Amino acid sequence: MITHAKRIIVTGGAGFVGSHLIDSLIARGDEVLCVDNFYTGQKANIAHLLYNPQFELIRHDVTFPLYLETDQIYHLACPAAPIHYQRDPVQTLKTSVHGSINMLGLAKRLGVRILQASTSEVYGDPEVHPQTEGYWGNVNPIGLRSCYDEGKRAAETLFFDYHRQHGLEIKVARIFNTYGPRMHVNDGRVVSNFILQALQGQPITLYGDGMQTRSFCYVDDLVGGLIKLMDSTEGFTGPVNLGNPSEMTIKALAETIVDIVGSGSSVVYRDLPSDDPKQRQPDIALAREALDWAPGVVLRDGLEKTIAYFDGLLTETR
Ligand code: NAD
Ligand code: UDP
Ligand code: UDP
Repeated sequence: MITHAKRIIVTGGAGFVGSHLIDSLIARGDEVLCVDNFYTGQKANIAHLLYNPQFELIRHDVTFPLYLETDQIYHLACPAAPIHYQRDPVQTLKTSVHGSINMLGLAKRLGVRILQASTSEVYGDPEVHPQTEGYWGNVNPIGLRSCYDEGKRAAETLFFDYHRQHGLEIKVARIFNTYGPRMHVNDGRVVSNFILQALQGQPITLYGDGMQTRSFCYVDDLVGGLIKLMDSTEGFTGPVNLGNPSEMTIKALAETIVDIVGSGSSVVYRDLPSDDPKQRQPDIALAREALDWAPGVVLRDGLEKTIAYFDGLLTETR
């Protein structure tokens, strides 16, 4: 018998991370209400759930109020890829600020836990390396990335003010670069770009000299961390870094993907986008200690699964 079954709202549930999170929650017996306006989400990500009695879908923009009943809220709604969040920067900021206020208002009315999908972008172009949760960040408030970075920072502020002012139970995850199946084909993020380019024999687009670093986490690992955080002891709020600490240059990522795909792709160099962080690596000591969590999927294994996913998509459209 399932004893922990809950009614759970996942905002942004039709997106890349949200749809994997919903799969895990449904597999353990919960009922999930997916709230998404399909700004960057895809129906294909949740199509397999549409006839599942544990699943329900509402098309709704979280910048508008929402009155529902639930036991927990995972708040993921927000475009995450730079080309998507920069397409309508005002809407991106509204999603983080108005969207968080509405979801916090909902959590407050019901007295339920709410988890915020924050980001390593709150550290900006970091001067502390690897990044610890105690670091306050180095963020440009008026640049092209600010609608996202400052929006997420303001959302964290709102979460902590609702916690202090209204006693709300909050959980804040700072998510580092995550990849896997169901990333949007056109989202321009580095893993999906390089895989699609390698599979199609197109040149790999390296921005800058490719020596900037990132640390890539496979989506299943991240989802495990989000669920552990939501279910962590009362009083543990975070913020807590969730990511894979194995850091690499973007150039090395390109070489690894070309090697796995066995592609003849060449490399072309393009301008580095403005405010592109030079380095990024999570310090996950807090997640290890407080959540007993660490990622387990090595990059090559995760990339192979992701490559198989994109290869399948390309085969479908051929
Ligand atoms: P995604 O773009 O695939 O998913 C975001 C989802 O939110 C989409 O389904 C989109 O339609 C929905 N959405 C956007 N604005 C909305 C609104 N106003 N109302 C309702 N729904 C809305 O991105 P993702 O990679 O799955 O990211 C999920 C969350 O995790 C985001 O909050 C993102 O900031 C955070 N995050 C992701 C990463 C990563 O590497 N994937 C890293 C750091 C943080
Ligand atoms: N809200 C919502 N669903 C609810 C409760 C509140 O969408 O179930 C919205 C409501 O529209 C409000 C926001 O959340 O604007 C913040 O709610 P809160 O109670 O914190 O603030 P107040 O209503 O006092 O401004
Ligand atoms: N990048 C790249 N080529 C691409 C896409 C991205 O070299 O086709 C670089 C980008 O400049 C950044 C890194 O890869 O340094 C990660 O970019 P992404 O947009 O995936 O995530 P973020 O910058 O938000 O970490």
